Amino acid sequence: MEIVGRLCQTPIQEHRPITAFHRMEPRGRERHRRAAHQSERAGASESNALQIAAIFCFVSLLGAPALRAAQTKIWDEFSGEKAFAHVQQLVDLGPRPSGSEAIEKSRRYIEDQLRRSGWHVTRQAFTDDTPRDKVQFVNLIAQFPGQGNAAPLFLLCSHYDTKTFDAIRFVGANDGGSSTGLLLELARVIGQHPNLAAKVELVFFDGEEAYDNFSETDGLYGSRYFAKHLGEGRQFHGGILFDMVGDRSLDVTLPADSPSEMARDIFAAAEALKLRSYFTYLDREMIDDHSPLNAIGVPTIDVIDFDYPWWHTAGDAIDKISARSLQIVGSVGLYYLSEFRLK
Ligand SMILES: [Zn+2]
Repeated sequence: MEIVGRLCQTPIQEHRPITAFHRMEPRGRERHRRAAHQSERAGASESNALQIAAIFCFVSLLGAPALRAAQTKIWDEFSGEKAFAHVQQLVDLGPRPSGSEAIEKSRRYIEDQLRRSGWHVTRQAFTDDTPRDKVQFVNLIAQFPGQGNAAPLFLLCSHYDTKTFDAIRFVGANDGGSSTGLLLELARVIGQHPNLAAKVELVFFDGEEAYDNFSETDGLYGSRYFAKHLGEGRQFHGGILFDMVGDRSLDVTLPADSPSEMARDIFAAAEALKLRSYFTYLDREMIDDHSPLNAIGVPTIDVIDFDYPWWHTAGDAIDKISARSLQIVGSVGLYYLSEFRLK
């Protein structure tokens, strides 16, 4: 991926997501606040009655969803350790550039893991011209069987290739590895909830990395092909792209051009899990695999931590990422899906 554009003329302030989050407050809480405010102005005896009524109202309004959430808590099922173990397996294969033997091994690993979690996987193979001659690329697409006629509505994506370097040994623990491990663990958890699984499609993009510089014909090979070949009847309502989500020092930076409603709900999900401090806005836009999807009208947010000193260096190794960071992003993603987007 690559950051683009000048610094925003009006940088998004840190308080913006919090302001936005306030709009998401449950109505019960607003009413409670209003009721409590009114009760202060009322007489003492009237105040007690109003407060009791307001508290009852607050509890009963919030009680039902809170209880329902307590029963499922799908976000607690996500294992950062399991996601990390996948990343380790991928990194152990060495550099995994498109068209290599190692990326074919990583494909077989991803396919095997997805099938174990109950997903049906297909390969979307194609050849494209690159600055280094023709390369064969393969996107991996997973759907949950038994969906009947209902087509998946929402995309969960990651790229699994690593950037080609001649001078360094680049294994992409964070860039290519972390989001793939995270998506495999999401597949395991979501696969245990068939109603949710029926609503999502998982896509592992090949060829995200540019050989030279991002352009109409270099970089984003897999996502450009996927977007171009989405059939008429396969219009997704939205998607999340995960990229570089494993940094030990996690600081998820949502690009400035993120679909605002999705960004607001990601922040709200993080807030609900008391993980809000790990999420902020990047002050610039970003070119990544979400770009071709947004271009065809599928609002897709890039959940990325671009504050990563080892980006595209030999230092992007397994010791720079942590299970805890994967746990944070995975649980926020699941909260967002189950409590907001696909509720
Ligand atoms: Zn990269």
